[in-house]
Amino acid sequence: MRSKYIQRYEEIVDKLIKKSFPVLKNEEIEICERKMEYRGMAEFWPWRKRIIISTRVRRYRYEKVVGILVHELSHFEMNKKKGFLWYLIVWVLTHYSKRLQYKIEWETDMIIIRKGYGRYILFCKKNQTEKQRKGYMPIRVVGRLMKDFKEERI
Ligand SMILES: [Zn+2]
Repeated sequence: MRSKYIQRYEEIVDKLIKKSFPVLKNEEIEICERKMEYRGMAEFWPWRKRIIISTRVRRYRYEKVVGILVHELSHFEMNKKKGFLWYLIVWVLTHYSKRLQYKIEWETDMIIIRKGYGRYILFCKKNQTEKQRKGYMPIRVVGRLMKDFKEERI
């Protein structure tokens, strides 16, 4: 049986997809937990789409959990729209280029903001260290860009 934590993540992911990620509607997305440094990770292979969530996230508040999941779904949307070959090339290149990695993360946050979920990623960014924030869109930029888009709540 799936743990209550996984069930909670699945419910949020289902709601997000129904409401704001139509491109992912027919994807089978597996969610699992692992003890790891990152809070969330996404694997986007043709044979497996998987979101991996750190066991640490179990004690996070709702808004922060939504922020983590919407971030991973936005990676999926970008990958799906650009295609598997693009994903594969980027996956390899980001191991060598921090700049490219930062660019991808920035674009991912932009997808989230355009869909109206900026407030949820603010919860994720709030207590991060300088090191964790590096390369990601700063809070003040999210706050500014958010104002141009209709806010969604789930
Ligand atoms: Zn990311």
